[in-house]
Parts: sequence; structure tokens; C-alpha cells
Amino acid sequence: MLKLDHLTKQYKDTLAVDDLDFEVKAGVVTGFLGPNGSGKSTTMRIIMGLDRPTKGRATINGKQYHDLASPLREVGALLDAKSVNPSRSARNHLRALAASNKIPYSRVDEVLDFVGLTSVAGKKVGGFSLGMSQRLGIAGALLGDPGVLLFDEPVNGLDPEGIRWIRDFFRTLANEGRTVFVSSHLMSEMAVSADEIIVIGRGHFITSGTVDQLTATAAGTVLVRAANPDSLASALPADAHYEALNDGALRIAGLSAEDVGNLAFAAGIALHELTPQRASLEEVFMDLTASSLQYGHQTPGVPS
Ligand code: ADP
Ligand code: MG
Repeated sequence: MLKLDHLTKQYKDTLAVDDLDFEVKAGVVTGFLGPNGSGKSTTMRIIMGLDRPTKGRATINGKQYHDLASPLREVGALLDAKSVNPSRSARNHLRALAASNKIPYSRVDEVLDFVGLTSVAGKKVGGFSLGMSQRLGIAGALLGDPGVLLFDEPVNGLDPEGIRWIRDFFRTLANEGRTVFVSSHLMSEMAVSADEIIVIGRGHFITSGTVDQLTATAAGTVLVRAANPDSLASALPADAHYEALNDGALRIAGLSAEDVGNLAFAAGIALHELTPQRASLEEVFMDLTASSLQYGHQTPGVPS
């Protein structure tokens, strides 16, 4: 079980993690979603005892990382795949990890085989591609057969086949009852690989839920075709946001289809189409995190 209690990390001028307080469930894949710079890696590093919180704590099975007697048996992580000593062979890298947690060497060969690195086990890690390094990182995470697993942006640098492999792998781990916590800055990636999603921006919690819940709570838009689009536009409330599309339709934000229909009726404007549009997952994510982006940009028309 993985739990954050008011976890906070302040670097000099940057509040990297701001009072994060949640539990990550076992048996499902939980996506940890936020724009670049929102504090995902810092949170994961703190969980793994690689950084100290300014306030609060992160616990694995009720204990902070440095209080775990045999940490690799309780939690495994793929954080920075390239942080491995380049002059070591893959096998020796894993053997060193295994020895530090009294894990038998036979397990090293098992995990190497599982990630498909057996044939290059004796080669220096320095010559590995990013994809191979990711696989080695996964092997290291699995070494102690832990119940809690963390993956920081695991899809970065993988080819499509690798991405499919890793998604199936997360699914398998969750089905085995493990806690699987995966970060990404891409909503589209989380939508296909995670069951539950926790969204953060600028270090703080924004929302959580299933993909469907997040989409449902996001404001959609209404696509409307009127006999006279200009009169419809002028009949809208002054603070309504709309975008005039090339084919004469209007895309209206902040009003329901019912509102738009009633407005048009009151103004005596015939409508040819009135379609509520669900926000895309990417739009939901941009919406949720827009005010948290460090370097935002303005889009004309309908605010996203
Ligand atoms: P993410 O993984 O979501 O992209 P990070 O956790 O890497 O975000 O970074 C969160 C914020 O903390 C960023 O503003 C980043 O610049 C800052 N930060 C991260 N690590 C350090 C550090 N060691 N020293 C100072 N600032 C840091
Ligand atoms: Mg990161």
C-alpha cells in the first residue's frame, strides 16, 4: 500500500510538491498525470527515499522507505533509466542490487529473461539504447518481487511494440494485486493504460477519478448550426465564449444544448443542428491544468 500524507517539497524558490495527500490503491493501475514540471518525479523520488520531504511523508506498507528492512522486496521503481553506472554489465548491475537486499542471484537471471535482456546480460549498460535501459530498470524494479511498483514516464523513448508490451505488463502486475503507480504528462497515454488517474499541477492535487469520471466532469461544448449564425451569435449572453467554424457552425462553450436551444427559440432563430460535444481527454487535461502550467499560452476563440 502506498500513501502520501501532506507530502510537501520546497526547493529554494520552487514549491515542487504541495501538500499531496492521497492513497494509491492495490489491484489497479493508477496514472499520475501532470504537465512537465508539476512535481511527479520529485514525488516518486521522495517515495523511493532519494529525496527528503520538507513536510509530510510518503509511506509504503505503513513505513517510510528508509525504515524498510528490505526495501526492494516491498517497492520497486523505474525512475531515471539512464542513471545506471555505464561501465557495469546489466547482470552485474542487478547482482549488486540483489546483494544489497539479500536476494538470490538466480532471481537476477529470472528478471533478465522476463524483460528480454538475457542475450545482452554481459554487455556494458553504457552501450544500451533507451529502450534497453528501460527494460533493465524494469528488471531492477521486479528483482524483489515487490507489491508496490512505481514507473516514472516509462513510455518515453519506447517504440510502439515496447509501449504495447509495457501497458500489458502494468495490467498483469495490477491483476496480480499489486499497487501500480505510473506517471505521465500525456493524458492520451493514461487514458489507455490507467484505471484511475490522479491529476496534479504545480505540485498540488487537482482531481482524481476514472477516465470516464474525468471526462464527464469536464465542460463540453455545443456545436450549433443556425439559419442565421450572426443573429445567433449576437443573441448569446455577452460573456459566452464561442468559435465561428469555417462551415458557418458555432462552437459554444459554457452553455448547455438546452440553453442554446431556448436562446435561439426566444430570438426566433431556426436551428439546423444542435449537438452537445464531449470534451476530448486531452482537452479535459488542458482544462484541469491550464492555470497550473508554468508557461501557458492563449488560444483564441473557445477557451480550452
Ligand atoms: P515533473 O516530473 O512533473 O516534470 P519535477 O518533479 O521534475 O516535475 O519538478 C518539479 C519542479 O521542481 C520543477 O519546477 C523543477 O524545476 C523543480 N525541481 C526538481 N528537482 C529539483 C532540484 N533538485 N532542485 C531544484 N528544483 C528542482
Ligand atoms: Mg518528471
